[in-house]
Amino acid sequence: MTQKIVVDFGLCESNGVCMGIIPEVFDLDDEDYLHVLQEEVTPENEQQVREAVRQCPRQAISIEDA
Ligand code: SF4
Repeated sequence: MTQKIVVDFGLCESNGVCMGIIPEVFDLDDEDYLHVLQEEVTPENEQQVREAVRQCPRQAISIEDA
């Protein structure tokens, strides 16, 4: 089953913790707006995406069944 990354932008405070863990997926732009560059959870990124979910201080990241 495909899983995708969902960010609650109402909770996100743009501190960049997730980008520090996996910049291929999470990117803060010049205006501190977070972009999810790749929504799909893959075998390659899953471990780091789950780490980002754990470490987000706002618990703004979740993984949902697509
Ligand atoms: S770690 Fe959480 S609060 Fe920080 S930028 Fe990422 S989603 Fe936003």
